[in-house]
Amino acid sequence: MRIAIFSNKGDASRKVSAALYDLINKTDLVIDGLNPDIVITVGGDGTLLSAFHHYIDRLKQIRFVGIHTGHLGFYTDWRDYEVKELINSLVHDDGQSVSYPLLDVKVDYLNDNQSDSILALNESTIKRPTNTMQANIFIKGEFFESFRGDGLCISTPTGSTAYNKSVGGAIINPKFDAIQVTEIASINNRVFRTIGSPLILPEDEWLRVEPETGDNDVVTCDQLTISDRPIKSISYRISQQRISFAQYRHTQFWKRVSGSFIGEEQHD
Ligand code: NAP
Ligand code: MN
Repeated sequence: MRIAIFSNKGDASRKVSAALYDLINKTDLVIDGLNPDIVITVGGDGTLLSAFHHYIDRLKQIRFVGIHTGHLGFYTDWRDYEVKELINSLVHDDGQSVSYPLLDVKVDYLNDNQSDSILALNESTIKRPTNTMQANIFIKGEFFESFRGDGLCISTPTGSTAYNKSVGGAIINPKFDAIQVTEIASINNRVFRTIGSPLILPEDEWLRVEPETGDNDVVTCDQLTISDRPIKSISYRISQQRISFAQYRHTQFWKRVSGSFIGEEQHD
């Protein structure tokens, strides 16, 4: 089995990576950063996001494993002191995996009939840093509302604990194939009105955003800024592609949520 190690630049992560290389060299596992079967990330959720975008063209072949060198993450199951146990699981691997939905983002540009298709693991946002963003919102091709405010955040279930949570979205168990649309500082008064609540769309529905302001709207995709070119419209839907993780043990989703946001307190 071919293994890639994708680490952030922190001291703790470098140490863990060095230990991983040492241990892997004592097994039949092979280090291969170009065509890996398994990508081990060392760092935090942000490191996993970077690794996802680095290997985005090989998602079908790859299973990810996340080691966290800081706090417990949503994509990182393993602690830095568990590397031996992890290598042992890799040596005895029989293809165990769990997969999660991804977000398809299609941007159509105004001037040149060009478009971009991007995948997001956490979310995509469209926002206007200055002035208000004005956009018409369509769901499954039907006009839904006209939006005024800072912007919108469209997230996956695993991304629901990230930006989405900060803007008042619900936490969605990633067993659901769904995308969530949350508003970022919408304007609501006697003249302008938006729905105000987060929306959760099933897999056969899609969202289209047609900005009226166009040229100053910024589109982000996870930690990346995609475009500041004038946009005609953006469509969001659940992707046909998914991200897979090697699942050698199971952390219950809600336990992960309480562990990350509430704390470790024990109750009977
Ligand atoms: P970052 O600024 O380090 O990320 C912000 C925080 O989000 C970090 O603590 C990160 O964890 C955490 N995070 C990332 N994905 C998560 C998830 N699925 N569930 C719960 N927490 C998560 O930047 P980054 O590490 O490159 O991550 C980019 C992400 O930051 C974006 O996708 C977006 O979700 C989030 N973000 C949030 C806000 C906000 O809440 N206002 C604003 C911008 C971006 P680690 O420390 O483990 O990396
Ligand atoms: Mn980070």
